[in-house]
Amino acid sequence: MSMQYICQSCGMPIEHLEDFGTNSNGIRNREYCNYCFENGKFNDPNLTIDDMIKINLDGLDHNPNIGYLKRFVLKKMYPKNLAKMKRWQHN
Ligand SMILES: [Zn+2]
Repeated sequence: MSMQYICQSCGMPIEHLEDFGTNSNGIRNREYCNYCFENGKFNDPNLTIDDMIKINLDGLDHNPNIGYLKRFVLKKMYPKNLAKMKRWQHN
C-alpha cells in the first residue's frame, strides 16, 4: 500500500509530485498542494475554513463526474474532514 498524501489545507488527495506545494527553497512541501501553498506561503493567507468549504462545495456542484449520492455524502463529510487538517488546527 502506498502512502497517501492529503493536502492539509484543502483536504484534497495529492497524487503527483508536481501537485505538491513548494517551500521557499523550492523543495516540495509534503503537507500542502500547489493550489494552496507555493514558495513557502499560502496562496491566500486570509482564507478561512468557511471560505475553503464554500469554494470546494461550489466546485462539487459544477462537477459533472460526481453523482448525486456521492455529492450528498461529500457535502456532509467535507466540513468535518477539513476541520482535522493541520492548517485549521488551533492551539
Ligand atoms: Zn490544497
